[in-house]
Amino acid sequence: MAALAAARRGTDSRFRWRTLALAGRVRGAARGAAAGQQYYDLLVIGGGSGGLACAKEAAQLGKKVAVLDYVDPSPRGTRWGLGGTCVNVGCIPKKLMHQAALLGGMIQDAPHYGWEVIQPVQHDWRKMAEAVQNHVKSLNWGHLVQLRDRKVKYFNIKASFVNEHTVCGVTKDGKETLLSAEHIIIATGGRPRYPTHIKGALEYGLTSDDIFWLKESPGKTLVVGASYVALECAGFLTGIGLDTTIMMRSIPLRGFDQQMSSLVMEYMESHGTRFLRGCTPSSVGRLLDGQLQVTWKDEVSGKEDKSIFNTVLWAIGRVPETKILNLEKAGVKTNPNNHKILVDAREATTVPHIYAIGDVAEGRPELTPTAIMAGKLLAQRLCGQSSVLMDYNNVPTTVFTPLEYGCVGLSEEEAVARHGEEHVEVYHAYYKPLEFTVAERDASQCYIKMVCLREPPQLVLGLHFLGPSAGEVTQGFALGIKCGASYAQVMQTVGIHPTCAEEIAKLRISKRSGLDPTMTGC
Ligand code: FAD
Ligand code: NDP
Repeated sequence: MAALAAARRGTDSRFRWRTLALAGRVRGAARGAAAGQQYYDLLVIGGGSGGLACAKEAAQLGKKVAVLDYVDPSPRGTRWGLGGTCVNVGCIPKKLMHQAALLGGMIQDAPHYGWEVIQPVQHDWRKMAEAVQNHVKSLNWGHLVQLRDRKVKYFNIKASFVNEHTVCGVTKDGKETLLSAEHIIIATGGRPRYPTHIKGALEYGLTSDDIFWLKESPGKTLVVGASYVALECAGFLTGIGLDTTIMMRSIPLRGFDQQMSSLVMEYMESHGTRFLRGCTPSSVGRLLDGQLQVTWKDEVSGKEDKSIFNTVLWAIGRVPETKILNLEKAGVKTNPNNHKILVDAREATTVPHIYAIGDVAEGRPELTPTAIMAGKLLAQRLCGQSSVLMDYNNVPTTVFTPLEYGCVGLSEEEAVARHGEEHVEVYHAYYKPLEFTVAERDASQCYIKMVCLREPPQLVLGLHFLGPSAGEVTQGFALGIKCGASYAQVMQTVGIHPTCAEEIAKLRISKRSGLDPTMTGC
């Protein structure tokens, strides 16, 4: 293939790109697709949250755009369609299964509100999974239609760099396509990490890439890890009635406010999730009856222990999808420790016309809305429509554990580290959601805290909310914090009664005062 050989021989230069592009256009016009090389204004590698948003925006603004997306099946063989992690094996199936679990709680509440619920209430994994999977498939289709409507060319190919302007894509049948562009966006996300040093981990374990696509119930499950993915998955598994254990080696939700994280864990524990603290797995083996025997070490006592599970879910972090990209051919540099792509504030990599957005980029929050916004803003800048950069400060997020935890801004620890304890005021409250009262639900972990600067007007540095619909509550307050809201302004905000969110506008007790922060009455 002459074009590929020429491209591979090339050195880095904008001049060469122009020459190549010109030659290609001439050849393309003469020989059409048979030439095998195609030219675009913008190539987007990765059809997930960030890549699709960037591609659609650029195409709408008049650029000739192609998206290259390819999903390697998980080690267990799970595969899915267009849309990336969030749509297929992340936010969407997770939130729907979380909803399934919340409904279980409501069924328990229902008799208190006069409903006659015929016992025993059963949950059918097959039905839930099929409904969730069908919804995901409809989203895959929706993305394909949107790309077509916006005239974005979609290639189901696995991409790797040939040089700094050219990418080679390979289909699952091994057919190669060469694509060149003036600008290339890398939005390849990440995949779950396997602890390959643990015997049996890869052979018998699964990850979040598989759990949402299981046809049969995972049964008694061990979840290893204690961050977002681990706690959320363990939360919904417990909620739909499965015997679920979390094995954590250190703290829950590293990076989050630790008081809130402990309350999240306390709630889960009091609602049936088992926790093995300070433990690390050492092997997984399959017994004759098909069950899995997990051996672990208690790091405190040094003792070994073992137990039997039907499923082992590794939720020990994610690895960026950079290895197969041949980044060195384009001169794109990564962090040698975590292999994420180094980027600047414009999302540019070490090669100025190659950009990286979303989970694959170093130092970015691994969240769908940040990937989407970064992609859209990048497209607008590349199209000369705007010079606005993505602001990664005060990004709100919610952990969809059985009791949801929403937050925006600094944790108490971060605020103290940055400003000093004497300059930080924390207002807090334990409250009881009205809905919990009639249903006689325990509200011991329903807690809010607002972290502020101490000096007037007491700028709000962070807000942390633990309770029902935390995502809905946090979203609105995130706007206030983004706009630089002060404690006084939040106190002047009239509440909506009766809601949980109104409790935020009633936070009068400071931690420093030592007074009882339990809310009573209206
Ligand atoms: P991705 O969405 O991962 O897309 C990358 C795409 O590129 C994939 O389709 C991949 O297959 C493809 N690709 C990779 N390499 C190549 C290649 N060489 N050639 C072609 N294609 C390639 N975030 C939230 O905001 N809220 C949540 O509730 C939430 N829940 C989550 C739950 C779970 C279980 C997980 C795992 C994640 C969750 N996230 C959540 C995080 C969110 O899913 C990610 O931050 C988001 O999907 C990142 O988008 P992205 O565009 O960077 O990459
Ligand atoms: P994280 O990297 O955030 O956490 C990894 C967890 O696994 C930690 O608890 C870590 O413990 C533990 N761990 C790591 N290695 C081992 C090991 N060898 N043995 C035992 N435990 C280990 O990964 P996640 O996969 O949970 O989340 C990835 C990202 O996805 C998050 O940062 C988040 O941005 C995004 N996400 C967002 C969600 C949302 O918005 N609701 C939901 C889910 C994911 P330790 O602390 O000791 O290192």
